[in-house]
Amino acid sequence: MGHLLDATAVALVEGTPVERPYTHFWAVADANGQRALSILRAAITEPAILAWRSCQSPFITTSFHQTTLVGFPLTDIGSVILMVRLPETPWTSIDQQCGATLAAHSAAMLRHARMYTDLQAYAAQTEVLNTLALFLGGLLDPARQLDMVLQRILALTHLDAGLIMLKDEPQDTVISVPALAIEPAQVTAMVEMVIATGQPVWLCRQHATTTETLPRALAGFCDLVMLPLALHATNAGALLIGSRAHRHISGEDLTLLLTIAQQLGLTLSNARLRRVANENEALRQANHLKSAFLASVSHDLRSPLTAIRASVEDLLERQHAVSASEHRALLSNIARETARLSRFVDQLLDLSRIEAGSLPIDREWIELKTLIEDVVSNFRQHWPDCRIETLVSPTLPLLYLDPMLIGQVLWNVLENGQKYGPPDGPITIEAFCTNSHLVMSISDRGPGIPLAERRRIFDRFYRLERDRHGRQRGSGLGLAICHGIITAHNGTIWVDERPGGGSIFRIAIPLTHERTGGWLPEEAFV
Ligand code: ADP
Repeated sequence: MGHLLDATAVALVEGTPVERPYTHFWAVADANGQRALSILRAAITEPAILAWRSCQSPFITTSFHQTTLVGFPLTDIGSVILMVRLPETPWTSIDQQCGATLAAHSAAMLRHARMYTDLQAYAAQTEVLNTLALFLGGLLDPARQLDMVLQRILALTHLDAGLIMLKDEPQDTVISVPALAIEPAQVTAMVEMVIATGQPVWLCRQHATTTETLPRALAGFCDLVMLPLALHATNAGALLIGSRAHRHISGEDLTLLLTIAQQLGLTLSNARLRRVANENEALRQANHLKSAFLASVSHDLRSPLTAIRASVEDLLERQHAVSASEHRALLSNIARETARLSRFVDQLLDLSRIEAGSLPIDREWIELKTLIEDVVSNFRQHWPDCRIETLVSPTLPLLYLDPMLIGQVLWNVLENGQKYGPPDGPITIEAFCTNSHLVMSISDRGPGIPLAERRRIFDRFYRLERDRHGRQRGSGLGLAICHGIITAHNGTIWVDERPGGGSIFRIAIPLTHERTGGWLPEEAFV
């Protein structure tokens, strides 16, 4: 342009009036060029430069440093081209038209260049936001993964220090990367201020004129931004982010960081909503279970109580009219129902201890064959007609189990076999050991258990539909207790269909040599 208009030096002052201008110079390489250049350098420091940049048409000043200075404004973009011609020759109207045309072209080019830069910056920001949205969307519990979130934000924004503070989440949380040299009291004060005002704070070293005017928070930082984190429309936290290296945080950066803070606030709000919803659902289920529990317990307590009360009232009403045999029958009815009631209360207590994890396991080295024989002989006293067959491996070692609890499991399963199967059995108990486990099975010839319900029968209070209104009374607690006891021994209990009809309850308990640190005790070899 300089050559075209025969100028000796040219200055392009560029930038919107609110920005600090960028200036580009060109001059011919001789003494005149140098002099013209210094005139232009002086010109751009003149207060008049602002008026020149916003001028609408070419202008000429003749008295500037005794030199003529011409200007071609780049309208609407706050820029201007200034020219000096040395030695001076008159500026013609053709020069003026030519300069104006060049200025218009330059303005168009600059506008395009600016648009392109803006678009690039916009695309980069969009990419940052998309990447962050994807990342935040993939987090299971963002409030507890804040360190990862902060690292990611720093990486995406090319900043190197940050801090997230959330109030009441569930107690105040502070995550900082790296450990910032800001005193906690100062952090709290800054966060409180951002939360109270809901406005970001942008501390910029460029804005501070001397080191004395630098805010204390900026010590150790190049620039620092504090942004409110809005959770459910209330500011419940803050994101501090900054650069300890010499990375300036620009106005565009601030816009991006504000959007990031909004995005993070939204993610945390949603996560909190999800958590509250889950907690509500858990409470609802617990409430439902409690109601089911109360309904079931009341029913199971009421039926023996009603029977006892009826027998007692009968005895009282007909005191003298009751025959000796009737008297005995009523008393044994009371005894039976009381035993049933007491067994139910014991089962409830056992189950509550199992569920609270407070069931004491009192393991000792036992001979399982003897334990099985004891349970069977006790069982026979109650049900003498029930045939029970035992097949216990002769090579069983001593086993480290709680005999009372394992005895209770055997009893419950045997009792079910007798109750739901033919009352006279047969029931078969088998026990053997593999390299790693004790395996027991109790098989009956009852109606079996439908495949879909084989897991559920171990749930507390669960009874098969056919038995809920059937002849056999039950509480649905026996197998839940067995499951709890076997689980407490680190074992498993399950039920299969018995070939030829019936159920086969299987129990597998890992062998343990715990007390002897891997060696069986001496008595194991006796
Ligand atoms: P209860 O026998 O007191 O009802 P359990 O927890 O011992 O409670 O058993 C749960 C349910 O599983 C029983 O109600 C019954 O429907 C079913 N069940 C248990 N054992 C057997 C079995 N050997 N054969 C058939 N059904 C059984």
